[in-house]
Amino acid sequence: MNLNFNPQHIVILTGAGISAESGIRTFRDANGLWEDHDIMEVASPQGFDRDPELVHRFYNLRRQQLLSDEVHPNQAHLSLAKLEEDFKGKLSIITQNVDNLHEQAGSKNVIHMHGELLRMKCVETGKSLLNKRDIHVETPCPCCLKTGNLRPDIVWFGEYPMHMAKIEEELSQCDLFISIGTSGVVYPAAMFVQLAKSNGAYCIEVNLEQTQVSDDFDMHMQGPATETVENLVKLILS
Ligand code: NAD
Repeated sequence: MNLNFNPQHIVILTGAGISAESGIRTFRDANGLWEDHDIMEVASPQGFDRDPELVHRFYNLRRQQLLSDEVHPNQAHLSLAKLEEDFKGKLSIITQNVDNLHEQAGSKNVIHMHGELLRMKCVETGKSLLNKRDIHVETPCPCCLKTGNLRPDIVWFGEYPMHMAKIEEELSQCDLFISIGTSGVVYPAAMFVQLAKSNGAYCIEVNLEQTQVSDDFDMHMQGPATETVENLVKLILS
């Protein structure tokens, strides 16, 4: 396998699959449930309006897991951090993941389009704040001092992803686009390949299996991210 060109600007899109081998379960692999919950129950504004305490409990557990000794960046996160360090051109990672495993691995240029587990947001002021603790309905907001005003700083279904102007700019300028561990069914991330391709980028997909958007890519690397990403990084740096 070889690339046949020297990329100057790489954009990498990552999804839940890159963190699966770190012990964080993906979204859709288990019958469309996320950690045994209907996704609309725990990942929509309507679900939060209906039962905010359940939604807080769900993200409290995800945050506790991320901060525990059980979860560490895996070889795929580490390989991407090495690529960022050694690559001479421009590189950015757009992640749909709400974990911070890219940052823990040492990646610097990471855009979280769906928010972060380690942040919370005040619904009154819109302010986003770092947070490592559990949140409950009665937790007072450090910014407006009221209770009931905090929510996870996560983009839910029906909400607009973060940093889209920056992401579109990156996708229109890159010459190599790589998508890792994402099912290609969550929009707008699912159409990033088309955007990158229409601007002339070479597009590579890395996944355990074929996805709904595999045909849009120039190359598909099949296998667990911990193995395939390391090989891909060697290929790019060689
Ligand atoms: P998804 O769960 O819809 O799809 C996961 C994809 O990863 C699948 O295509 C699967 O084949 C692939 N995959 C699974 N294990 C893999 C492995 N070891 N190596 C390579 N590929 C593997 O995930 P998505 O497309 O990212 O969309 C889900 C949404 O859920 C995201 O928006 C994200 O915010 C949220 N989510 C985040 C996390 C996290 O932060 N780690 C976890 C679950 C869900």
